[in-house]
Amino acid sequence: MAKSVFSADRFHNEEAAFAYVEAELWPNGPVCPHCENADATKIGRLQGKTTRVGLRKCYVCRKPFTVRIGTIFEDSHLALRLWLQAIHLLCSSKKGISTRQLQRTLGCGMKTAWFLGHRIRFAMAPGGDLGPLGGAGKTVEADETELARSRKTKRPADFRRKTHNPVVLSLVERGGNIRSATLDHNSAMSVVRRNVHKDSRLVTDTATRYKYAPVASHEMVDHHKFEWVRGDVHTNTLEGFFSVLKRGLVGVYQHVDKKHLDRYLAEFDFRQNTRAKLGINDEQRASLAVRGTQGKRLTYEMSGSAD
Ligand SMILES: [Zn+2]
Repeated sequence: MAKSVFSADRFHNEEAAFAYVEAELWPNGPVCPHCENADATKIGRLQGKTTRVGLRKCYVCRKPFTVRIGTIFEDSHLALRLWLQAIHLLCSSKKGISTRQLQRTLGCGMKTAWFLGHRIRFAMAPGGDLGPLGGAGKTVEADETELARSRKTKRPADFRRKTHNPVVLSLVERGGNIRSATLDHNSAMSVVRRNVHKDSRLVTDTATRYKYAPVASHEMVDHHKFEWVRGDVHTNTLEGFFSVLKRGLVGVYQHVDKKHLDRYLAEFDFRQNTRAKLGINDEQRASLAVRGTQGKRLTYEMSGSAD
């Protein structure tokens, strides 16, 4: 029988979990988070029966530290091996994992599971200032989708305005990355302006909102005239992504709170941008997510405990 992924030591043994995370975040050896000292001869490992796993001491600033400092792991008492299990689950499930499923699988409380999920999504979000998508000679597709709960619960047309289903705008550079945003507090034009290089060729459906997009050229397919593809003018790259996103967000994450939607979008964007087709397997995707934990210390208010 093939070995279970979770039979790896780092998912069970705290020392192994630390060794794994340290190798990902400190590829050149430990770095003191307080004074940035990276001289291995000036960093000691604190050992002893009562000492916390992974504890080190910096001989320059005299302060103790572990690899958890300055990462999403910092403010949590949860064992690192459980974090690694949760990260692996979120990285290997195409449609995501609900809080309830995380709670049952890890055997933790609901609040902990919710907390874990959102911090991991935060780690999956790209850090720092992203350059624009596209550029000279490159094509960017833009399209929107409405996250309606289910066809069956759809209201008559005149009620639709009051239901406020979230609308997601996604942009994809052909042969490159995808980037999604909710249109709740952004206009489509502002998302395009911020994320698409002005020398790009933009491809959309007939939505007039892209009419004045600041790009080199803009081509459209007219869905109202039943035109979906005209040569390479289409938004098919996004159609596939939207189908996964909807099955995930409408099915798995049934009650997505709008204020957390951007974080869920980061999760789906991350998996899409590191998908198996690009030669990235679950383990490599999880390793990328672990590297994304660095510099992402953020405290959530614990008030909203639902998805
Ligand atoms: Zn130091």
